[in-house]
Formats: sequence, C-alpha cells, structure tokens
Amino acid sequence: AKNEGANRYLFFNDSMNKLAVKRLQVENLIRHGLKEDYFSVFYQPKMDIVTGQLVGMEALVRFITPKKGVISPASFIPVAEETGQILEIGEVVLQKTCEDVKRWIDQGLFHGRVAVNLSAKQFMLPFLCEQIDDILQRSELPSYHLELEITEGTVMQSPKLAIDTMKKLRARGIHLAMDDFGTGYSSLAYLKQFPLNTLKIDKAFVDDMTSARGRNMVDTIVTIAHNLNLTVVAEGVETAEQLQQLKQLRCEILQGYYYSKPLSAAEFAAFLKQQKQL
Ligand code: C2E
Ligand code: CA
Ligand code: CA
Ligand code: CA
Repeated sequence: AKNEGANRYLFFNDSMNKLAVKRLQVENLIRHGLKEDYFSVFYQPKMDIVTGQLVGMEALVRFITPKKGVISPASFIPVAEETGQILEIGEVVLQKTCEDVKRWIDQGLFHGRVAVNLSAKQFMLPFLCEQIDDILQRSELPSYHLELEITEGTVMQSPKLAIDTMKKLRARGIHLAMDDFGTGYSSLAYLKQFPLNTLKIDKAFVDDMTSARGRNMVDTIVTIAHNLNLTVVAEGVETAEQLQQLKQLRCEILQGYYYSKPLSAAEFAAFLKQQKQL
C-alpha cells in the first residue's frame, strides 16, 4: 500500500510536470510570436436581427505561425493571462484593430463600432485609459467607433474599481459590453451599477434554446437587459431557427456562423463591400 501511494504521488507529479513544460513551451512560443509579429486580428460581423444589415464586428486575436499554423485562443490566452503577456498581445490587437477600422472608415466602407476584448489584467491596468487614448490618437480613430468587451469575472474582481474605470471609458465615448453574460457571478445589484451599453448572451445559452427551459432563460436575460436599457447581442448563432427564436425574444443583434465566421482583414473588407451593394 505504501508503494502504491508513492506511485500515485509520482504519477501526479509527472502530469503536473507535463503541464508546466507545456505552459513554458506556449510562453516561449508567444514571446517568439510577439517578436515576429505573428499575431493578427480577425473580424466577425454583428448583424441587426431585423434588417440583416451589418452594425459592427468583434475583433478576435489570431496567432498564426509558419511552423505550427493557427494556434487557438483557447490554448494561448489562458497562458498569456498568467504570464502577463496578454498585456502586450492586447496592445497589439487594439493597435491593429484601430488601424484597420480607420482605413475602412476612410474608404467609406464602415461607420459603426468595433468591439475589442479586454482581458482582466488589461482592464486592471492603472494607465489603461491613457494607453487607449494613445492608440486612438496614433491611429486617428474617433473613440465613438470603439467598444470594449469585458467579462463578469473581470469586473467582479473589484467591482468598485471597475465602475470607476468604466465611467472613465464611457466619458471618452467608448461603449462597453458585458461579455459571456450568465456564465459568471455578477449580481443584479452590480449589473445595475455598471455603466454598460450592451449585454452579450453567451453561446451556451443560445445552444440551450432547443428546450423550453433554455428559451425561458434567454427570455429572462433579454428582459433584464432591456430593463437596464442595454442592447442585447447573441453570440454563436448558427441556425435560422435560433435566429427566429431570438427575434421573437426581442434580441437586437446577432453574431455567429449563421452570418459569418471570423474573417481576416482582407476578407472582412470584401464582406463590407458586398454589404454596401445590398
Ligand atoms: P468570446 O469573446 O466569447 O468570442 C466568441 C468566440 O466564439 C470566438 O472564438 C468566435 O470565433 C466563436 N464563435 C462565434 N460565432 C460562433 C458560432 O456560431 N459557432 C461557434 N462554434 N463559435 C462561434 P475564438 O475567436 O476562438 O475566441 C475564443 C475566446 O478567446 C473569446 O471568446 C475570448 O474570450 C478570447 N479572445 C479572443 N480574442 C481575444 C483578444 O483579442 N483579447 C482577449 N483578451 N481575449 C480574446
Ligand atoms: Ca468577446
Ligand atoms: Ca463572448
Ligand atoms: Ca463566449
């Protein structure tokens, strides 16, 4: 029995080791990727549920290396969060997004808002607003073209501080969206205090609309959002049936493969041109 215990300990230790090694590999890969400029931004259209017209898009980071191909955000974002590399990645994403959007506006292809994801570490930066000011100025993008997506987890780490930061961002004309709503732990009391514009319903809730219970849940979320004067975006919409159900539940904006997967900057420009001709 003693032996068995020792083995188990060894086994546990070994799997922990593998995890640590894997993490170190990802960390090194990210460092290399930042140096070589392997991070780019893809854009996923957000569509008005009634008119079917484009109203904006979400910027999504892509890590593509010549050797490894596409590395999924699910595998590198958690590591980048832990190592702090997310700060540099986030800055690159914001800078590239603002440059792309400025170009599309100048070309007369776009006049809406682009939504950029902010990680918890980024949101907590004491000089976040100044950093955003700098990037907007450098790219000559007016602040009212920018929206930031933050999760419940991020704002609930320190709700009072979060409210201050959110107010500063709003004062600049930047819009704020609560991302992945319903998957975290924010209380309704706080939700009311956060100066938000938009509430994004997580894909998991959209997927659950196959049951009456699931549809009730989305109905409830939309009702709460509308009571707080928030616009509702549903993410991960894949089917015409989901679209019809969300329309009935008075959700305003859709994002998902039903309309388009995330597109490279070149592909998205083509999408904008095609929209303009409609
Ligand atoms: P998220 O913010 O919830 O982004 C939505 C994710 O759902 C994206 O995955 C998008 O490609 C995917 N998606 C959209 N529509 C559909 C659909 O109809 N079906 C399916 N199956 N998936 C759909 P992605 O790009 O892999 O990003 C995953 C997560 O990584 C994001 O979830 C976000 O939390 C994080 N992330 C992505 N880009 C950034 C970034 O620039 N900064 C930060 N901090 N996090 C990011
Ligand atoms: Ca998001
Ligand atoms: Ca989301
Ligand atoms: Ca999500």
